[in-house]
Amino acid sequence: MDFTIPVLNNLDQGDTLAVKHPTYKVGVRRKAREVNIGGIKVGGNAPISVQTMTKTKTSDVEGTVRQIRQAADAGCDIIRVTVNDREAAEAIAEIVKQSPIPVVADIHFNHIFALKSIEANVAKVRLNPGNIGSKDRIRQVLTAAKERSIPIRIGVNSGSLEEDILEKHGYPTAEALFESAMRHVGICEEFGFNDVIISVKSTDVRLMIEAYRLVAERTDIPLHLGVTEAGPTKVGTIKSAVGIGTLLAEGIGDTIRVSLTDDPVKEIEVGKEILRSLSLASRNIELIACPTCGRLEVDLFGIMAQLEAKLEGIKKPVKIAVLGCVVNGPGEASEADIGIAAGKGVAILYRKGEVIKRVKESEIVQTILEEVEKFQPEQ
Ligand code: SF4
Repeated sequence: MDFTIPVLNNLDQGDTLAVKHPTYKVGVRRKAREVNIGGIKVGGNAPISVQTMTKTKTSDVEGTVRQIRQAADAGCDIIRVTVNDREAAEAIAEIVKQSPIPVVADIHFNHIFALKSIEANVAKVRLNPGNIGSKDRIRQVLTAAKERSIPIRIGVNSGSLEEDILEKHGYPTAEALFESAMRHVGICEEFGFNDVIISVKSTDVRLMIEAYRLVAERTDIPLHLGVTEAGPTKVGTIKSAVGIGTLLAEGIGDTIRVSLTDDPVKEIEVGKEILRSLSLASRNIELIACPTCGRLEVDLFGIMAQLEAKLEGIKKPVKIAVLGCVVNGPGEASEADIGIAAGKGVAILYRKGEVIKRVKESEIVQTILEEVEKFQPEQ
């Protein structure tokens, strides 16, 4: 990269820094077969969708629909609800009717709840066919799902592997997760059912990465990525970003769910941010700041806190960089759409690498807000 670091005082209005903006690409996307989840395509060339799960009692239709709407407003593409008891199975039809986004029924062992959910026209069922009992029950569920073109997600977790598989592999390994998932896929195929998605989740990030890589290498089945029970917001966000992010950067994954001990909206925000960090989703405001060091010349923490608050909710794909000194500031600031390189009491404003004007420290926040207002995203 070719760039110069100018001295703040020597910069004039209209000066341009010779900074090239390379475009980095993530790994070539694995080609998975395409599955349709209530109108949202997963796999193929479809954009990577973001999912979450409601945390209400499903029998509470009003509360569940409220949570679904909040998640949808935050950018959720697909929502999952548990259908874990008779009341939930009764409520699912009304939830599907009122939901603005496709609803997935999460079933564990009960084939009746699966059939009820399919009748209610859910967009997908999360179910492992080997867990619902006799061949006749499996046939009933798969036949009903096929008739309505409802796909099934086979969800394997390292914490609930079949006993014989655990015994064979000794402990949950990537091969064990793969074998378990393929066992359920095999049952579906036996009944002529191919409309499946796979997840092979674990709380162990290395294990889930390895297991997803195996499924990706050996099949063309679309993949739902997730680190299961990732934990409280901070730890869960980091684990999800590392696990899901690593796979996405390798071109693996078709839909994602971040699991946090937090509100579904938080899960969506983190999921969206993971996609944005790899340029797999359109950006909203992207706020960049230096970590600060002894060279800092302005109250950067105060400026960033004000900006975060004032820019919240603004949906414009604009990258803003605020840097605290003249050493690294100008180079970084000129790579953003709107950049500030601060000096002692005064800063330089950049617009797409071009020096626009000098700004007093007290005017930095207001100047950035005005620039955001004026900013025209490229079409
Ligand atoms: Fe320190 Fe300047 Fe870098 Fe900020 S931009 S971390 S103040 S050297």
